[in-house]
Amino acid sequence: MCQGAVPEYFKFKEAPPELPPGWLGSRFLHELDVIDPHTQTKEYVVSKTAPCPIIDAHVHVFPQKLMDAVWTFFDNFYWPVRYKGTYLESRADFLIEHGVTHVVLLVYAHKNGIARDLNKYLAQVVNDMNTRYNKKFSKEEASGQIQKQKRRRVATGLATVMPGEPGAKDILAEAFTTLGLSGIKMHSHVQSVPANHPSMDEVYETCIRFNKPVLIHAGKAPNSSAYKVDAGKICDASIVEDVLKRYPRLRMCVPHLGMNQYEEFFDLLDRYPNFYLDTTMTFGSFFQTFEENKPLAELLRTMFLKHSDRILYGSDWPNIPYSWSREIANLVSLMDGDGDVISSAVAGGGNQKGIHRTAEGDTVLEKILWRNASRFYGISEEDLGLSDINSSGSQNSTPFPSNL
Ligand SMILES: [Zn+2]
Repeated sequence: MCQGAVPEYFKFKEAPPELPPGWLGSRFLHELDVIDPHTQTKEYVVSKTAPCPIIDAHVHVFPQKLMDAVWTFFDNFYWPVRYKGTYLESRADFLIEHGVTHVVLLVYAHKNGIARDLNKYLAQVVNDMNTRYNKKFSKEEASGQIQKQKRRRVATGLATVMPGEPGAKDILAEAFTTLGLSGIKMHSHVQSVPANHPSMDEVYETCIRFNKPVLIHAGKAPNSSAYKVDAGKICDASIVEDVLKRYPRLRMCVPHLGMNQYEEFFDLLDRYPNFYLDTTMTFGSFFQTFEENKPLAELLRTMFLKHSDRILYGSDWPNIPYSWSREIANLVSLMDGDGDVISSAVAGGGNQKGIHRTAEGDTVLEKILWRNASRFYGISEEDLGLSDINSSGSQNSTPFPSNL
């Protein structure tokens, strides 16, 4: 076992110190010249020459009153939220403006009776964002700044429902049809419902009926003594396995790589072909650094190579305590095998970056950074602005030239 990264009950933890200038730079990222007014640091942006597009498959939006409540919880029990000011100013546009190609936006209901309105709110946010950026891209096309594209979508939304609430099936059917949402987000901790609870059956059955995936926070961590239930007791890999056994056609993703049971959740990937994990917050060098926990880094690298088709990148923006680009930098370092497989790879990898880079590692990165999320959430190459570049239709072709 090489776990233990997060204690049974997580206690408030300050943000990690800022990194030295340029530290997160890589072939994917470069530091901006200006000080960001909200974070008071130089933020990073995805380079125009980055080897592949990036889908951030885990981004939170909420109506402001609910977001304020979430932030109060984080400020008291988890960590300081770094991107409050940025979120208030630009919502998830921040990520697109900083070079992310597409974001998957999430809401979740914590009680009965609010899901329908949350889903409508989210559909509106998604539509507004896609309309706004299509106008912007049209202007850039007209001025020759970017290549002509058919249609672009920069955002996808996942619906919510409270398990067992009256009309749950109808709420989801409306979300998947009229509202055009692309799956659902559930949260065992916040909703106080284990993944295998009978009230979840109609949720899973409706998802299968509409062929929509479920993203469900069903790992034990980070558990807080402030929750109404002990998340450590209602979450376990065996509970998720119950669901996977009963619903082999259900496409399910557990975020945070199943933190704190990494090995158990990777084992599920071996046995259930429709099961996925997202990386959210496991690469922020916050719960642990890879220097402190080298066996974990080695486990992750081995598992990413083995299960490269079923891992998705996600950031948890805006509710994170560190730079949004930190996880991409660490993911690249991990797959590059920086510093003799990770010893100095934490947050950038010092001056040894990329010397152990392999074609296999590059392929895995592409899958984690966009291809897997594209397939799982139904985000097409046309949505990403790739269809004109990659018109051959070959699934294995690389839309961006490899730098190798
Ligand atoms: Zn999240």
